[in-house]
Amino acid sequence: MSAPWYADGLRFACTRCGNCCQGPGPVRVSDAEIARLSRRLELEDREFRAMYTRRLRGGDVSLRETREKACVFYDPAEGCRVHSDRPLQCRTWPFWSAVVHSPERWSEEARDCPGMNRGPRYEAGHIAGTAERDGTSVSRPA
Ligand code: SF4
Ligand code: SF4
Repeated sequence: MSAPWYADGLRFACTRCGNCCQGPGPVRVSDAEIARLSRRLELEDREFRAMYTRRLRGGDVSLRETREKACVFYDPAEGCRVHSDRPLQCRTWPFWSAVVHSPERWSEEARDCPGMNRGPRYEAGHIAGTAERDGTSVSRPA
């Protein structure tokens, strides 16, 4: 197999600007993540789903957005209100399969994410492993 375009690694250090939490785009959550977030907010699983999630076409579940299209858990003053329990897709950004797919796509996303191309360099193996399980699709067979 040939080496990926990011064979020398990629740099990333989040600046906490909040752009990525202000949409657009779904924030997929798995059943286990919903259970964890429900416990955190002291809600029943079904209450949490009704209040904070919506179903996407295809069956995955996403966190809801505010009227301004931000993630329902984004606080402009404090950032993510559930940071230590945030979904996998929030933890794996920007090493999503669709983003590291090509240098063009990486550069395109970097226009809105000032954390990309700065800070520590992540090794290609780490990037490829993260991209394989990036949380951007949590669909399961019925
Ligand atoms: S857009 Fe990038 S730098 Fe800004 S909060 Fe999101 S990951 Fe961090
Ligand atoms: S769960 Fe937190 S980190 Fe993820 S999009 Fe929402 S506010 Fe941002």
